[in-house]
Amino acid sequence: MLSCTRRIEFDAAHRIVGHAGKCRILHGHRYAIEATFVARNLSEIGMVVDFGIIKSKLGYWIEENWDHNAILNIQDKVLGEKISSCTNQKIYYMNCNPTAENMASILLHDICPKLFQDSQISCSKIKLYETPNCFSECVI
Ligand SMILES: [Zn+2]
Repeated sequence: MLSCTRRIEFDAAHRIVGHAGKCRILHGHRYAIEATFVARNLSEIGMVVDFGIIKSKLGYWIEENWDHNAILNIQDKVLGEKISSCTNQKIYYMNCNPTAENMASILLHDICPKLFQDSQISCSKIKLYETPNCFSECVI
Protein backbone atom coordinates (compact mmCIF):
# COMPACT_ATOMS: atom_id res chain seq x y z
CA MET A 1 0.00 0.00 0.00
CA LEU A 2 1.36 3.39 -1.00
CA SER A 3 0.56 6.55 0.87
CA CYS A 4 1.05 10.28 0.76
CA THR A 5 0.49 12.86 3.46
CA ARG A 6 -0.44 16.52 3.34
CA ARG A 7 -0.13 18.99 6.22
CA ILE A 8 -2.85 21.62 6.67
CA GLU A 9 -2.80 24.29 9.38
CA PHE A 10 -5.67 26.35 10.76
CA ASP A 11 -6.62 28.55 13.72
CA ALA A 12 -9.63 27.89 15.91
CA ALA A 13 -11.06 28.29 19.39
CA HIS A 14 -12.48 25.52 21.53
CA ARG A 15 -13.17 24.50 25.10
CA ILE A 16 -13.60 21.11 26.75
CA VAL A 17 -16.86 20.69 28.65
CA GLY A 18 -16.25 18.98 31.99
CA HIS A 19 -12.48 19.49 31.98
CA ALA A 20 -11.15 20.06 35.49
CA GLY A 21 -8.37 22.42 34.41
CA LYS A 22 -7.74 25.34 32.06
CA CYS A 23 -9.16 23.59 29.00
CA ARG A 24 -12.70 24.32 30.24
CA ILE A 25 -12.01 27.99 29.37
CA LEU A 26 -12.54 29.10 25.77
CA HIS A 27 -9.09 29.40 24.15
CA GLY A 28 -7.42 29.11 20.76
CA HIS A 29 -4.86 26.96 19.01
CA ARG A 30 -2.82 26.98 15.82
CA TYR A 31 -3.91 23.49 14.83
CA ALA A 32 -2.19 21.35 12.23
CA ILE A 33 -3.35 18.15 10.65
CA GLU A 34 -1.38 15.61 8.68
CA ALA A 35 -3.80 13.66 6.51
CA THR A 36 -2.48 10.40 5.04
CA PHE A 37 -4.11 8.87 1.97
CA VAL A 38 -3.57 5.43 0.50
CA ALA A 39 -4.07 3.84 -2.88
CA ARG A 40 -3.46 0.30 -4.05
CA ASN A 41 -1.77 1.53 -7.21
CA LEU A 42 -0.06 4.67 -8.36
CA SER A 43 -1.72 6.78 -11.06
CA GLU A 44 -0.37 6.76 -14.62
CA ILE A 45 2.02 9.57 -13.71
CA GLY A 46 3.19 7.90 -10.49
CA MET A 47 1.12 9.46 -7.72
CA VAL A 48 -1.17 8.23 -4.94
CA VAL A 49 -2.94 11.56 -5.32
CA ASP A 50 -1.90 15.03 -6.38
CA PHE A 51 -1.14 16.93 -3.14
CA GLY A 52 -3.15 19.80 -4.59
CA ILE A 53 -6.31 17.67 -4.60
CA ILE A 54 -5.97 17.04 -0.86
CA LYS A 55 -5.58 20.77 -0.35
CA SER A 56 -8.50 21.66 -2.60
CA LYS A 57 -10.91 19.19 -0.98
CA LEU A 58 -9.89 18.72 2.66
CA GLY A 59 -8.17 22.10 2.96
CA TYR A 60 -11.25 23.83 1.59
CA TRP A 61 -13.53 21.97 4.01
CA ILE A 62 -11.33 22.96 6.95
CA GLU A 63 -11.20 26.56 5.78
CA GLU A 64 -14.98 26.70 5.46
CA ASN A 65 -15.82 24.91 8.71
CA TRP A 66 -13.00 25.13 11.26
CA ASP A 67 -10.53 27.88 10.34
CA HIS A 68 -10.99 31.06 12.41
CA ASN A 69 -14.04 29.50 13.98
CA ALA A 70 -15.13 28.32 17.41
CA ILE A 71 -15.46 24.52 17.56
CA LEU A 72 -17.84 23.71 20.38
CA ASN A 73 -19.60 20.78 22.01
CA ILE A 74 -23.33 20.98 21.21
CA GLN A 75 -23.79 21.28 24.98
CA ASP A 76 -22.21 24.74 24.61
CA LYS A 77 -25.04 26.04 22.40
CA VAL A 78 -25.73 28.98 24.75
CA LEU A 79 -22.08 30.05 24.59
CA GLY A 80 -22.07 29.62 20.82
CA GLU A 81 -25.17 31.77 20.42
CA LYS A 82 -23.61 34.52 22.55
CA ILE A 83 -20.45 34.47 20.44
CA SER A 84 -22.49 34.52 17.23
CA SER A 85 -24.68 37.39 18.38
CA CYS A 86 -21.60 39.51 19.22
CA THR A 87 -19.42 38.64 16.25
CA ASN A 88 -21.73 37.23 13.53
CA GLN A 89 -19.44 34.23 13.61
CA LYS A 90 -20.78 30.84 12.62
CA ILE A 91 -20.00 28.09 15.13
CA TYR A 92 -19.02 24.52 14.32
CA TYR A 93 -20.84 22.23 16.76
CA MET A 94 -19.82 18.67 17.53
CA ASN A 95 -21.89 16.00 19.28
CA CYS A 96 -18.93 15.46 21.59
CA ASN A 97 -16.11 17.51 23.08
CA PRO A 98 -13.79 19.17 20.52
CA THR A 99 -10.71 17.31 21.71
CA ALA A 100 -7.86 16.54 19.31
CA GLU A 101 -8.98 12.90 19.46
CA ASN A 102 -12.59 13.63 18.50
CA MET A 103 -11.63 16.14 15.81
CA ALA A 104 -9.23 13.63 14.22
CA SER A 105 -11.91 10.94 14.37
CA ILE A 106 -14.51 13.15 12.68
CA LEU A 107 -12.13 13.99 9.84
CA LEU A 108 -11.17 10.35 9.29
CA HIS A 109 -14.57 8.69 9.69
CA ASP A 110 -17.09 11.34 8.58
CA ILE A 111 -15.56 14.11 6.50
CA CYS A 112 -12.88 12.44 4.35
CA PRO A 113 -15.09 9.54 3.21
CA LYS A 114 -17.61 12.09 1.88
CA LEU A 115 -15.00 14.36 0.29
CA PHE A 116 -13.16 11.52 -1.47
CA GLN A 117 -16.03 9.10 -2.16
CA ASP A 118 -15.62 9.35 -5.93
CA SER A 119 -11.86 8.83 -5.99
CA GLN A 120 -9.51 5.86 -5.95
CA ILE A 121 -7.91 6.95 -2.69
CA SER A 122 -8.99 6.83 0.93
CA CYS A 123 -7.79 8.56 4.07
CA SER A 124 -6.05 6.07 6.36
CA LYS A 125 -4.74 8.34 9.10
CA ILE A 126 -5.30 11.78 10.57
CA LYS A 127 -2.68 13.22 12.89
CA LEU A 128 -4.07 16.33 14.55
CA TYR A 129 -1.72 18.66 16.42
CA GLU A 130 -3.30 20.85 19.07
CA THR A 131 0.12 22.34 19.87
CA PRO A 132 3.56 21.62 18.36
CA ASN A 133 4.11 19.11 21.19
CA CYS A 134 0.69 17.50 21.56
CA PHE A 135 -1.17 15.52 18.93
CA SER A 136 -3.67 12.74 18.50
CA GLU A 137 -3.72 10.11 15.78
CA CYS A 138 -6.75 8.36 14.37
CA VAL A 139 -5.96 5.39 12.15
CA ILE A 140 -8.14 3.00 10.19
ZN1 LIG B 1 -7.22 23.52 23.77
